[in-house]
Amino acid sequence: RAKQRGRDTFHLFDPTHDRLLQVRHEQRQRFIDALNHNELCLYYQPQVDMRSGKVVGVEALIRWQHPDEGLLAPGQFLPIIDTTPLEVDLGEWVIERALCQLAEWQVKGIALPINVNISPTHLLVSNFSQRLAELLAAHPDVSPSMLKLEVLESAAMHDVQAALLNMSRCQALGVSFAIDDFGTGFSSLTHLRQLPVNLIKIDQSFVRDMLSDQNDMAIVESVIYMANRFKRPMLAEGVETLEHAKALMALGCELAQGYGIARPMPAVALPAWLANWPAREEWRSLGLIR
Ligand code: C2E
Ligand code: MG
Ligand code: MG
Ligand code: MG
Repeated sequence: RAKQRGRDTFHLFDPTHDRLLQVRHEQRQRFIDALNHNELCLYYQPQVDMRSGKVVGVEALIRWQHPDEGLLAPGQFLPIIDTTPLEVDLGEWVIERALCQLAEWQVKGIALPINVNISPTHLLVSNFSQRLAELLAAHPDVSPSMLKLEVLESAAMHDVQAALLNMSRCQALGVSFAIDDFGTGFSSLTHLRQLPVNLIKIDQSFVRDMLSDQNDMAIVESVIYMANRFKRPMLAEGVETLEHAKALMALGCELAQGYGIARPMPAVALPAWLANWPAREEWRSLGLIR
């Protein structure tokens, strides 16, 4: 019994484990402060139709302007709140920010929908659509069709029924869905059949090497084929060069997003980018290729 108790105490009072928990706790407190003190902001990355050259929307990407550590990318801080209720707080903050931005752009005559990333934890909370309805109601001047939600394939995996229900309710509000990082999860096919998804985003990991790696090319081709068969629009992520753009166009994928078109930028930089985009002749004439 002494041995048994010894083992238990070891587990309960393991100093390294204890220390780790404490660090996590402090990091989360710090994140809550950041959320409350407006250290977070959204960057926007344009999405374009390569056939017409039209800018079709932007994706909102979270950044943390940390006073000591500079501008942090999501990969540097989202793991801190992974699967915690803070993901819901962050998600609602992002949606609210995006709606404010849409209202501001509307006044300035910029009519671009915003795609917002929704974490699996957030998508599956039972009052998701109700909260979304409340946030939308607080911005009656913004059309719900200007808000698009990007969800990961894996989000639905945890609980397909709950995901389906929440997504259909949001769609009834006029909000549409994109499936993000498509091809990286399991049962992509099942998801395509079951979920009310309006746009398929081909994961950038496949796009990046598609010109040099035959396997990646095969995946990109298959995803485009499937999306066409299911009559779903698709968008390629991670389009870094004109060569990628041309290859994707030739395969029948016309929507694109990537560093070759534009890096994510703060909202203040967007009007200048939009004004300059028509001058990017080589990108804008891709529609003539097919
Ligand atoms: P994602 O939604 O798949 O977003 C695309 C990521 O690829 C972004 O990274 C973007 O900056 C990057 N990217 C875009 N074009 C290119 C390219 O041509 N080449 C390369 N190498 N990368 C490109 P970022 O901003 O670091 O975001 C990473 C991930 O963090 C996102 O992946 C998304 O899953 C997550 N995330 C970002 N913002 C939010 C948010 O507000 N809420 C939630 N829950 N997750 C977010
Ligand atoms: Mg995304
Ligand atoms: Mg993605
Ligand atoms: Mg991703």
